[in-house]
Amino acid sequence: MPAPDGSEPHDQLVRRLTVLSGPSGVGKSTVVAEIRRAHPSVWLSVSVTTRPPRPGEVHGVQYFFVDDAGFDRLVAEGELLEWAEFAGNRYGTPREAVIDRLERGEAVLLEIDLQGARQVRQTMPDAQLVFLAPPSWEELVRRLVGRGTEPPDVIERRLEAARVELAAEQEFDLTLINTSVQDVCRELLTLMSVH
Ligand code: 5GP
Repeated sequence: MPAPDGSEPHDQLVRRLTVLSGPSGVGKSTVVAEIRRAHPSVWLSVSVTTRPPRPGEVHGVQYFFVDDAGFDRLVAEGELLEWAEFAGNRYGTPREAVIDRLERGEAVLLEIDLQGARQVRQTMPDAQLVFLAPPSWEELVRRLVGRGTEPPDVIERRLEAARVELAAEQEFDLTLINTSVQDVCRELLTLMSVH
């Protein structure tokens, strides 16, 4: 309910924040790409990463690609809402852009790993945490190996991380099973009250 001065209480702002997490290879970035394509008005946070770009990835679209020193600087200056190391690279969410959008009353979607989701749970307890699960473990392995973008040692690290991430499903407010990208997008947009 709006306060007498017309502003909304902080928890209502935070409730507009939706976090999408789940194991590497489950299809989080495909879901995000489909939302970007079909619903360009939905604002998606662009993370900062020290990982090198994959073919086709564009600076400022999928990620802001920075070197280690650049990432250190963002951490030191408190510019990141959350950050984590994942499979040998660091990833973080730029704070200011997210807070600006929430203050304007816009829905915000973060696609981040489990460690990042846990940090958001601590700092913004009313955020809605959504776990994207694969139809089965075999399917997850098939997708991760089949996408052919990572060398075998990186795939092995990501599978290890996936085992840990799958075990954390209970920490989330709800689970969506990624059998169809279209269905997941629709459910996610409904959860974010975007129609
Ligand atoms: P990828 O290298 O496949 O793009 O991403 C690896 C993992 O990092 C994925 O699980 C992705 O969700 C996660 N990730 C991407 N951006 C962020 C971020 O800003 N913060 C955190 N904590 N994880 C992120």
